[in-house]
Amino acid sequence: MASLLQTARFATTAAKLAQLPRGGVPEIAFVGRSNAGKSSAINALCQRRRLAFASKTPGRTQALNCFALGPERAPRPVAMIVDTPGYGFASAPLAVKRGWDQLAGRYLQLRQALYAVVLVLDVRRGLTDLDRALLRWMQPDVPILALLTKSDKLGRAQQRQALDAVEAELRAARLPNPVSLLAFSSTSGLGVEQARAWLEAIVAEAGAAVAEGEPAPEPETLADIDRVRPANPP
Ligand code: GDP
Repeated sequence: MASLLQTARFATTAAKLAQLPRGGVPEIAFVGRSNAGKSSAINALCQRRRLAFASKTPGRTQALNCFALGPERAPRPVAMIVDTPGYGFASAPLAVKRGWDQLAGRYLQLRQALYAVVLVLDVRRGLTDLDRALLRWMQPDVPILALLTKSDKLGRAQQRQALDAVEAELRAARLPNPVSLLAFSSTSGLGVEQARAWLEAIVAEAGAAVAEGEPAPEPETLADIDRVRPANPP
């Protein structure tokens, strides 16, 4: 049976929040620095080669690109993946940087349909100042999955060190959000199954909450990190 993520298809591009779809379909946003590996992660998770590269075509790079999940013939999608513009591109003009805050920043802070965030981090850089700033902005009840991608570029011991460092920092930050952490590689497939399972569980929970007209379930604690980490034995 095809997984939910395999049904992903391009739905719409929003250059302003007002252009986002209405209807309360649960959204999962992918965020990360430019070049962190976000597009590759979306493509690997959805088993599609060039899905997220649609976001790199001119005119869509500074927009929110939405991909619908669920049976194509259903009246509405089960959920949406929202690909946000990469941030931290050193040579980006100031206007572009401000544009990011105005669009993706406001989206993360305000969007009610936002049910989860996947934060894509290059395992060799870990958390950068921009990632830290972004984490502090997030709506407090939105679960976060941090993917330490490009893990294929490191040996096991270095992977473990990188995971430990990010985990220690996330714990110290005492974010109100439930946070999960996973070593990942779009190239080798490391962590892909676990990330898919996490996303599908979020979609299932969000679907149940929407059906009952309830808000998203109460957040769990940072102990959630422990539930995900053993998926990557050293
Ligand atoms: P984005 O700007 O965050 O969307 O990053 P991309 O997905 O375009 O990836 C940036 C670069 O990193 C590209 O050259 C990718 O081929 C490479 N890359 C992305 N993910 C991985 C990975 O898991 N392993 C390796 N070795 N390279 C990767």
